[in-house]
Amino acid sequence: KHVVIGGGTGFIGSALVDTFRIFGVNTTVVSRMPGPGRITWNELERCGLPEDISAVINVAGQNILDPRCRWTPGFKQNVWNSRVYTTKTLAKAVVHTKAETFATISGVAYYKPSEIEYTEDSKCEKYDFLSELCHEWERAAELSTNSNIRQFTIRSGVVLGRKDTKDVSGILNGVAPQIITNEQFTKAFAAALWRPAVIPVPTFLLNMAFHKERAKIMTEGQKVIPKRVLDAGYEYEFPNIDAACKQFAKLIYID
Ligand code: NDP
Repeated sequence: KHVVIGGGTGFIGSALVDTFRIFGVNTTVVSRMPGPGRITWNELERCGLPEDISAVINVAGQNILDPRCRWTPGFKQNVWNSRVYTTKTLAKAVVHTKAETFATISGVAYYKPSEIEYTEDSKCEKYDFLSELCHEWERAAELSTNSNIRQFTIRSGVVLGRKDTKDVSGILNGVAPQIITNEQFTKAFAAALWRPAVIPVPTFLLNMAFHKERAKIMTEGQKVIPKRVLDAGYEYEFPNIDAACKQFAKLIYID
């Protein structure tokens, strides 16, 4: 087995590479930088993918919340291209291979923050830069209807850990079944670390530091339910935030 991972050097991508390695699966990372076990995006465009691969995954994307980068039109273009363009490039290449699966990620910013509880079936119009990005990012992953490759997109919340199953396709809300607020998360995380919860940073300061358009990732939230994931019978190892934070804290102390 051989899996190609766009963005395989990142937080999620490197965890995937490590997991595949444990199961004896070869990986090739698509990266901006050449190196052993890697191909660059330019090479991919020029030469395509090796034909004999089993799956392609894309988790590339410029870090939106990088505090060193101002929210300028140029940076927004990077944020956009690093997701939409890389996904399109892989979608174009994967159809010429023997891959059975094409998996991509997008974000819960797809949904407009409100009191509504969203499932994968909820229709949501684009309403700002991030939601428009999520719509286009997901569209970029669509394969032609005559392709037999199973394609799915995980519409992800903040990642603490993940697994998947073989029989699903389409959109999957990559969140745990418990809906919580940022404040509840902070308290659960602090409790797991045996530390007092920090005083929340006021919204206006986050807006000033990051620009309102991207600070909303931290200041607003969507109520998202992983309906299709639960229907598919997926069992969460850490279905609630307390259990997840305790496990996360263990990893921090072990490291
Ligand atoms: P990271 O920032 O850790 O890694 C993403 C990878 O993308 C990098 O290793 C880099 O690879 C590549 N990359 C960065 N900038 C660019 C660019 N301008 N052009 C092309 N490639 C670029 O991200 P995560 O692993 O945390 O997240 C991966 C994806 O999942 C992102 O698209 C993110 O939006 C999405 N996501 C993440 C969530 C999270 O909680 N982490 C939640 C929801 C969605 P290289 O340097 O090798 O080119």
